[in-house]
Amino acid sequence: MTTLHWFRRDLRLGDNPALMAAADSGDVLPVFVLDPALWAASGAPRRAYLLASLRALDEQLDGGLLIRRGRPEQVIVDLTQEVAAEAVHIAEDCAPAGRRRDERVEQALDVPLVRTGSPYAITPGRLRTGAGEGYKVFTPFRRAWQDHGWHSPAPDAHTARGRLSLVDAGRSDDLPAAEVPDGLTLPAAGEEAALDRWAEMLDGPLNRYDTERDRPDLDSTSRLSVPLKWGELHPRTVLHDLARRRSIAADTFRGQIAWRDFHADVLFHSPSARDTSLTTVLPEDSWAEGAAERAALTAWSEGRTGYPLVDAGMRQLRAEGWMHNRVRMVVASFLVKDLHVRWQRGAEHFMAWLVDGDVPQNQLNWQWVAGTGRDAAPYFRVFNPVRQGLTYDPEGQYVRRWVPELRDIPSKAVHEPWKLPRSAAPDYPAPMVDHAEERAATLEAYQEQRRR
Ligand code: FAD
Repeated sequence: MTTLHWFRRDLRLGDNPALMAAADSGDVLPVFVLDPALWAASGAPRRAYLLASLRALDEQLDGGLLIRRGRPEQVIVDLTQEVAAEAVHIAEDCAPAGRRRDERVEQALDVPLVRTGSPYAITPGRLRTGAGEGYKVFTPFRRAWQDHGWHSPAPDAHTARGRLSLVDAGRSDDLPAAEVPDGLTLPAAGEEAALDRWAEMLDGPLNRYDTERDRPDLDSTSRLSVPLKWGELHPRTVLHDLARRRSIAADTFRGQIAWRDFHADVLFHSPSARDTSLTTVLPEDSWAEGAAERAALTAWSEGRTGYPLVDAGMRQLRAEGWMHNRVRMVVASFLVKDLHVRWQRGAEHFMAWLVDGDVPQNQLNWQWVAGTGRDAAPYFRVFNPVRQGLTYDPEGQYVRRWVPELRDIPSKAVHEPWKLPRSAAPDYPAPMVDHAEERAATLEAYQEQRRR
């Protein structure tokens, strides 16, 4: 019997229950469909990374991965007929657009579409409150998540059954060009690179994760968001390894994986959260979007706000397609609460540049910072970019790494260059706004809205 395994967000052979399910039922045609709609909607960094990851997967499959371009409802149906496949196996896609696409494919197929597992430890929608609803608050979600638990990792599909028995369906389509933007360096792609990164984390930084994870200068987080986004690694593999470590650090790390599941769960229950605030802090139509806001958005996106921590983060994003979590929070707060630009515009920019850019994580984190999410930071919390810099980049190393105009300013003085003579950093812009004034304006707007 021949089956298709349709790779999507599971670009790996290890711990891939959907691939195992396909292998269990016969010879497998491993296929990836390059959907022009998704391709066009992805930023250049993600496109380039995806191609690198597909190359790595193809190598693992000894050149056996078939890549076809086109609409999945057409390509998958055609392929099942071409090779007389009796089923199509997938890992479930839980995001709104992916669910709709899978329903379309399922309707077009005359063989079963078999869903096994998902990109999450616990498939979104499964955990429910006593009232049968989705969780709105993280802490009880995390408790239920931990109590529910997850399966052990599945064995590697290539080694568990000897070699996978692959079906050859001819040549892949030519791949489109995916240029890496100037100045951007992508991380190594593929399952092997992901496992190496995780092994390095386990060997060292994980032990200090609870105390150092907020320090962008120490680079002490795992950077697993990228392989987790693409499914080069499954969170269950991570949780399995963490279970052997009994420490506050391991538990803190597990909590971050729970946040990832939580955001996917919130989006599952509230698909509109992709574009619309879950909580109205300010009415959606109250945000101005004129020339001033566009200019502010451009300065922010290019790292020219005159606030060193904000600018360092925005430049790291363009250089690495990634930004440290603490700095993501600071830059997001700055855009929404100091520059008065709606969170959706910032989320769009992040999606254009992040290699880990992922709808549930990106949109819900933006909503968290903007105070509009289900379980968000209090909406009136405004991050102070200077204080955040002094606390989490105490010697200024992170800022100096990413903002060359400030490289000669020693230690923590780098967070307030305007206090130094202009000659100390002649090429660095003055602050584009006064944080204290903008914070007060934002709080006043919130008060005004509450009085209505
Ligand atoms: P680590 O600290 O090593 O954490 C381990 C894993 O836990 C991460 O890989 C990630 O999968 C998960 N995790 C950690 N923090 C969060 C969080 N706040 N929310 C959800 N999961 C988390 N993450 C994305 O994967 N994609 C995004 O598009 C994205 N956009 C964001 C936008 C904003 C405005 C903010 C504030 C955060 C965003 N995050 C996003 C969450 C977080 O910043 C990244 O997951 C994290 O910085 C990735 O680095 P790491 O793998 O070294 O994290």
